[in-house]
Amino acid sequence: MSEQIGNLTFGIIKPDAVRAGKTGAIIQRITDGGFRIRAMKLIRMTREEAEGFYAVHRERPFFAGLVEFMSSAPCVVLALERDGAVKAWRDLMGATDPAKADAGTIRKEFAASIGENAVHGSDSEENARIEIAYFFSQLELVNSE
Ligand code: GDP
Repeated sequence: MSEQIGNLTFGIIKPDAVRAGKTGAIIQRITDGGFRIRAMKLIRMTREEAEGFYAVHRERPFFAGLVEFMSSAPCVVLALERDGAVKAWRDLMGATDPAKADAGTIRKEFAASIGENAVHGSDSEENARIEIAYFFSQLELVNSE
């Protein structure tokens, strides 16, 4: 059983969107976008888990606020499979700043600000692998073949 890891990406429905009751609508957009959900769970990140996840941003001025936000309430973590999954998921999410996001993107529709922007998506296949492994064990990656 080989993993088609190149076709996987990692996503988060962030606390603002979960709190606003948009989880179902966003999952609908994901499946309408041709993604297969390989793993999904509702979690509440600890501060330490959020710091670890966003460690690459630790020197940025928004880091403390980002960690605070991501550990403030539950979020939904996802492993998503599709051809060209990394780019396709980032295209569906839209720009980091929802004010700059294209019409029809998730951030345009559901996000309020650059800090609370509804969803996360990996920016490379390598980071997708790292981020999936941060939240999911191999056993949690469901194979529907
Ligand atoms: P993404 O890949 O589109 O999520 O963007 P980045 O990797 O650049 O940033 C990660 C996350 O940090 C973003 O999704 C935002 O939640 C947050 N972030 C990035 N830039 C800013 C900023 O200028 N201000 C604030 N408050 N948050 C930011």
